[in-house]
Amino acid sequence: MSIKRLGIMGGVFDPIHCGHLFTAEEARIEFKLDKVIFVPCRQPAHKRENDISDPEDRYLVTVLATSNNQFFKVSKVELNRPGPSYSIDTVKEFLKKYHHGVKIFFITGADAFLEVDSWYKSEELIKLCQFVAATRPGYDLNKLDKKFKKNIKIMEIPALSISSTDIRRRVREGKSIKYLLPQEVEEYIYKKGLYRKM
Ligand code: NAP
Repeated sequence: MSIKRLGIMGGVFDPIHCGHLFTAEEARIEFKLDKVIFVPCRQPAHKRENDISDPEDRYLVTVLATSNNQFFKVSKVELNRPGPSYSIDTVKEFLKKYHHGVKIFFITGADAFLEVDSWYKSEELIKLCQFVAATRPGYDLNKLDKKFKKNIKIMEIPALSISSTDIRRRVREGKSIKYLLPQEVEEYIYKKGLYRKM
């Protein structure tokens, strides 16, 4: 199948949860995407590497979570690239892979886009792809920088009341995470003992 409209789901995915999966599916339908590629970042440009879980664990849970959707794929492109994960490098890599014949939709959390002004080569990036900001209900997007605001499509996602931070906290406090993420991901978290201390 030829790919003309490609979604890139960028995030830390520590861990991936139903809010992310619902966001990707909603974006796929709303923007008529042929495929959505989840791209876990190796080293988020604004975070320290030791604040987040091992890249291999984050990659594996993302594969487990997405395997039953034929339109979803997971890429190691940022995990294999040393240094900070700049979205512009990723978008350029996918444009090259598809010989510049695709329109790219870069999907991530609205709070991440609030800082887009400080992203590496952000003004060039916004010319190369369509930004799609997924937001939690009640989140104030008026703070978005004006020059980016007009180029960002906003999707309000009720399922994003689920958050990775909350899931990590729940595991640490011995609370249930059942139904917040796919069962395979829950099992992996317990098997590997993730988030017990953080
Ligand atoms: P993050 O800590 O994973 O996410 C920030 C917020 O957005 C969190 O509330 C998060 O919720 C939510 N979120 C993250 N990914 C999402 C997704 N795909 N769909 C829906 N909600 C999502 O991420 P970050 O470090 O800000 O980075 C987000 C993306 O922006 C990554 O792809 C990163 O590489 C890119 N970025 C690029 C640059 C740059 O190029 N210089 C700088 C900063 C960020 P959860 O915690 O529940 O996931």
